[in-house]
Amino acid sequence: MFMVLLGPPGSGKGTQAKLIEKQWHVAHVSTGDLLRAAIRDQTDCGMTAKQFMDRGELVPDELVIKMIEGRVGGDGCVLDGFPRNVRQAGALEGLLTARSWRLDHVVSLNVPNEELVRRLGGRRTCRECGAMYHVEFEPPRTEGACDECGGRLYQRDDDRETTIRARLEVYERETAPVRDFYSVRGLLRDIDGVGRTEEIFARIVAQVSGAQ
Ligand code: AMP
Repeated sequence: MFMVLLGPPGSGKGTQAKLIEKQWHVAHVSTGDLLRAAIRDQTDCGMTAKQFMDRGELVPDELVIKMIEGRVGGDGCVLDGFPRNVRQAGALEGLLTARSWRLDHVVSLNVPNEELVRRLGGRRTCRECGAMYHVEFEPPRTEGACDECGGRLYQRDDDRETTIRARLEVYERETAPVRDFYSVRGLLRDIDGVGRTEEIFARIVAQVSGAQ
């Protein structure tokens, strides 16, 4: 199964993608995670990407498309954070078609902007394993440390207030048109992204099962 998860930053794509990965046994491919790993490893690609990411802008298409090419595999995957614009959506379609695969589902998580700002501003990420917490809604058992692996929690540079606003603007300008791309292909499924994690996941399962 090939699935795309759309939604603004902070809409819960990463959290839901992990549950989808388990439920349908598909690989979770997150371009944001891959880029952050490249930055941690100080690769050329990571160093280029960092300049854009710190400003809340999109990393150049060529770099991101190249990065996912080898990761979209035969057993299927859930794409989280890709495609981010219509050009990337076209590239993905080309890549799948060339291998006689097709996209099965596109799920869009919808959350109001003010809620997104609240979620992202309080978000803390584990440096070691990438697990996410929220200072108010989902604090770790020990302040500053990951419940899973004990790694140190930090606030991503792009989770600061001014960058958050920039990322939301970029989403409206670049990524919202991707909805139309998939809507005309009859693939788009809108999901209310407000509520408890399990409730939202149940909505996804219901939509995806209903569409099969
Ligand atoms: P995310 O973790 O998905 O919120 O992504 C964090 C940042 O990585 C974004 O604000 C972009 O700068 C960059 N990024 C992630 N995915 C893409 C993509 N598909 N195209 C361009 N830039 C991306």
